Amino acid sequence: MPAIEARSVSKAFERNKPVLNDVSLSIEDGEMVALIGASGSGKSTLLRLISGLETIDRGSVSTISVFDRTVQASGGRTTEARRIRRDVGVIFQQFNLVNRLSVLRNVLAGRLGKTPFWRGTLGLFTRADRIRALQALERVGIIDFAHRRASRLSGGQQQRAAIARALTQEARLILADEPIASLDPASADKVMGTLARINREDGVTVVVSLHQIDHAFRHCQRIIALKRGTLVYDGPVSGISRADLAALYDSDTLSTA
Ligand code: ADP
Ligand code: MG
Repeated sequence: MPAIEARSVSKAFERNKPVLNDVSLSIEDGEMVALIGASGSGKSTLLRLISGLETIDRGSVSTISVFDRTVQASGGRTTEARRIRRDVGVIFQQFNLVNRLSVLRNVLAGRLGKTPFWRGTLGLFTRADRIRALQALERVGIIDFAHRRASRLSGGQQQRAAIARALTQEARLILADEPIASLDPASADKVMGTLARINREDGVTVVVSLHQIDHAFRHCQRIIALKRGTLVYDGPVSGISRADLAALYDSDTLSTA
């Protein structure tokens, strides 16, 4: 069963200005894929369509399914989209955590979709939930900060907490939208390494958007590149050189450089 199956995905926020143009892709369960593209190429929009945060255009023929459940079809988001979110962990560039809450409480939020609603809202997590959350913090290497306020962590530590939250959620798919864009190189490498490890060891499918290709080559098996909403490369990292890939997705920037 593919983790993600997208067919002819098009999206325009304004008339005649397509942000995504007939994008089709299939990502198998267990893959770690980098979504590459310059700023404005449509990476976030594609990830938001997959997670169901955004809706395809009315009247479009686009379809997207996640683990065989249809998220987008017949010109709209389906009623199944909400159910899929239980299996999907979403990580953004920033604003991932609730600042005033402890790191542990933030990570426990991963259990919200799995806990009876009233328990979650009262913060009444089970002992098993807490153990799971602490184990996740251990795995991402920030167990020592479990009881700190989230706002006191560095950017890289916050992103690792967001990964721990996805682990606690038992996400089968992580969609990470430029999770390292505002991090220094060492922290960025740690966050990418953490994503790669849970992909390898837990079999979590990871799709991570990046606007620079070095990390994609170091940590991912496959690259999907967008240029102005069109898919310009989809293949293994071993199938293309950095220079060729950069020329494909970013040739405007290169030619003016
Ligand atoms: P990326 O993540 O690759 O930088 P985005 O998917 O964020 O690209 O944006 C692609 C294009 O779509 C940009 O031109 C952006 O301005 C436009 N866009 C994104 N979201 C919206 C929106 N909600 N309304 C209007 N235009 C949008
Ligand atoms: Mg973006």
